[in-house]
Amino acid sequence: MESNELLQLVEQYGNPLYVYDAEKIQSQYNRLSNAFSNVKNLRINFAAKSLTNLSILKLIKQLGGCLDTVSIQEVQLGIHAGFAPEDIIYTPNGVSLEEIEEVAKIGAQINIDNLSILEQFGAKHPETPVCIRLNPHIMAGGNSKISVGHIDSKFGISIHQLPHIIRIVENTNMHINGLHMHTGSDILDIGVFLQAAEILFESARHFKELKFLDFGSGFKVPYKADDIETNIEELGEELGKRFNKFCKEYGQDLTLAFEPGKFLVSEAGTFLAKVNVVKQTTSTVFASIDSGFNHLIRPMFYGAHHLIENISNPNGKERFYSVVGYICETDTFASNKKITEIKEGDILAFRNAGAYCFSMASNYNSRYKPAEVLYYKGQSQLIRKREEFEDLIRNQIAVDIAL
Ligand SMILES: *Cc1c(COP(=O)(O)O)cnc(C)c1O
Repeated sequence: MESNELLQLVEQYGNPLYVYDAEKIQSQYNRLSNAFSNVKNLRINFAAKSLTNLSILKLIKQLGGCLDTVSIQEVQLGIHAGFAPEDIIYTPNGVSLEEIEEVAKIGAQINIDNLSILEQFGAKHPETPVCIRLNPHIMAGGNSKISVGHIDSKFGISIHQLPHIIRIVENTNMHINGLHMHTGSDILDIGVFLQAAEILFESARHFKELKFLDFGSGFKVPYKADDIETNIEELGEELGKRFNKFCKEYGQDLTLAFEPGKFLVSEAGTFLAKVNVVKQTTSTVFASIDSGFNHLIRPMFYGAHHLIENISNPNGKERFYSVVGYICETDTFASNKKITEIKEGDILAFRNAGAYCFSMASNYNSRYKPAEVLYYKGQSQLIRKREEFEDLIRNQIAVDIAL
């Protein structure tokens, strides 16, 4: 989106502000489905946790997508947004049997990632088809916080425990209709995908009632111009071919599923914040914005890079700035980054702010969560109101105790 359009949205809706470009989400969706046009049955489950706004979920549904959820609340949001239960897959980690049973009652596809729950659920509900999340132990991902496939990961059932899985399935007479893996985020090498896929194909031979194989996600998206990204087209070509070959051997056309979050929404999002103070110290120029890790925690939480542009002065002379928040803790978005000259009152745009940005926002320091706007071809709509004081005290019960 262009600087002047973004500035106009700040005029209209205030700051700080999240803006999502629906056209970019649409083109990413189409890019992924086109890459796998060689596969007969493709299912794209949007990872709801990356951006749970109802209007975004509705957009995904309109595009033909399904949903990947990690909590019963995300399942309920999906239903609320209009998804049929069967279009929702539920992939929790470490949740109670009770919650899984609740979700099964709603009718979403259950995906189980540990032997204990598999056995308990299978014994009680052998008739409910279940997907199994395997851990292929493929080391992938941008860093240890987002890499979930390694040997000590808490996610999935180890591929080495396949005999145990099979024993549980036989003993309980449960029906396994899908196998799943998700090796982590920011995968660059499609060889990693293919290697993990082989493990899934190999495991799949042991299950006779499969309807789908879910290859998770973890596609890397570019974070700046010329940044590397997962080559989706090449992946589609290679994995699609291999998948079709597997289906022939298996004797049935299965569905190939993915569950991208970042790939669909990261680049579509821009976070806009105003510069409150420019402070020159002996060695650094700080630009302090009207936001902090309460609104965008990825840089502080896992060192994520977000390109920052001064859209109020796009053609100015570049200088080095450290962009910091107003939270009373170290709150650094970027250190010593070249940005066009910043004056107090300028609007900074943080790119790639679609995934894991608003959805990780909090009220720390008793600040309001920002408003969210959906933009499509020159038209904008408010999709979440900016919070107000009332939102901070809702649910609180102010009591006096007799001292
Ligand atoms: C978070 C998550 C995803 C989405 O990962 P991205 O890197 O955003 O594409 C997919 N599947 C599962 C099970 C997840 O937990």
